[in-house]
Amino acid sequence: MQIKFLGAAGEVTGSCYLLTAGKSRVVLDCGIFQGSSTANLKNRRKLPFDPAELDAVILTHAHLDHSGRLPVLAKHGLKCRVVCTTPTVPLVDVLLRDAASIQKQDFLRRSYKRSQRGCENGGCDPLFDEKDVVALLKLLSGTKLEVEREVAPGISVRFIDSGHIIGSASCVVTLKEGASTRTVVFSGDIGNPGTPVIRDPIAPLVKDADAVVLESTYGDKDHVPIADTIERFAGILKEALASGGKVLVPAFAVGRTQTLIYVIARLEEEGKLPRGLPVFVDTPLGIEATKIYNMDPSLFDEETRAVRAAGNQALNFRGLKFTRTAQESKGLNDLRGPAVIIAGAGMCTGGRILHHLRNRAGDPNTSVVIAGYQAAGTLGRRLVEMKDTPVNERPSVRIYGQPVNVAAKIFTLNGFSAHGGQSTLVEWGRQCIGAVEGKKPTVYLTHGEQRQRLALADKLREATGVECKLPMLGDVGQIG
Ligand SMILES: [Zn+2]
Repeated sequence: MQIKFLGAAGEVTGSCYLLTAGKSRVVLDCGIFQGSSTANLKNRRKLPFDPAELDAVILTHAHLDHSGRLPVLAKHGLKCRVVCTTPTVPLVDVLLRDAASIQKQDFLRRSYKRSQRGCENGGCDPLFDEKDVVALLKLLSGTKLEVEREVAPGISVRFIDSGHIIGSASCVVTLKEGASTRTVVFSGDIGNPGTPVIRDPIAPLVKDADAVVLESTYGDKDHVPIADTIERFAGILKEALASGGKVLVPAFAVGRTQTLIYVIARLEEEGKLPRGLPVFVDTPLGIEATKIYNMDPSLFDEETRAVRAAGNQALNFRGLKFTRTAQESKGLNDLRGPAVIIAGAGMCTGGRILHHLRNRAGDPNTSVVIAGYQAAGTLGRRLVEMKDTPVNERPSVRIYGQPVNVAAKIFTLNGFSAHGGQSTLVEWGRQCIGAVEGKKPTVYLTHGEQRQRLALADKLREATGVECKLPMLGDVGQIG
């Protein structure tokens, strides 16, 4: 049996693995590459398998760096089931439709610009369109956590909560080849324990695992504790409230937006913030994702279930408003008095946060709170980089092609990360590897840059005695 690494090998995005055993072919995750200059090329590279001949696809969670190339498989004849957890199905639906729509708009904008320059075509076609997304959605099949499910003859999967976003899972995949059986544990993205609303990650304990594939996004460091992060966030909000300013929070639609709603609601309940502070969730995708989070409260962590049992809403409060239409969003430009505006995109690469920044970043009474990872080259990263620079020495930023001077106060909050830090990954690895009886499994570190996975490999060697493998794109590993 073999495992081929087709993404997130030495980098964080593009998760994709091909498992082969005898005649069986299984793909686990098929995400897009993001951020780097080579991402577009990698997304368009022909995959070394025929989607029509796959026996099963398994999806760990809805994020695009895990699901974003699935419509490409559907476009090229995918027929088998795509198995994931139950909440992942509606999340994939909204995220992939949104991704198709953004690609279409980008393509039209590019075509227009090229036509102005006399070029006849619009350059690269979109990677996929809504039709491909619909074809993919028909193949999705949701399944419960902790239940072993046969996804094709001789191939089964069991999902275990990985505590990263709602529906995210680690997977135990079993394949039969003749008389022998091979088992591989995939961590998927491992969450940050203590993150509000969702449960903490659980390491799968599998006594006959042949291989473990472990993510390493934050393999080199731990995060600021969540309690400290919440306290700091409360301080920023209180100060803004006192000065009558606006707080702009660029936020990822799935996960971060819900964490922020939950945290503000609890701060009000605990009297740490005055009730009634206007908070606008100005992201259509974030509004849809919040609805999906509310679909099955049995998936919430104990603390959130206790909040509900006490008669409070976990993801709602008096001052919370969802602005769905573009008109409502523009209406926020005339808003007087203090308010919090949570808007996408999380790295300020597009979306409604751009018009709020254009209108308010020049106002020293505005606070911009960066509560998530900002990739190099993004507007979000530029804001982080200038946060300690005196206002008159800051370079201007370009928004919608126009220069904008940034006089706003800029804060970074690192403790809301959806990924576990180094200690969490080491503990997950220690438990998972320690549960294997007899011969130790082969351990592959993926979904992290080289520095991060080297640091994690050192820590895991100390904790378990296992020498981890660090596969690169296209590498093949033998299992068992
Ligand atoms: Zn993820």
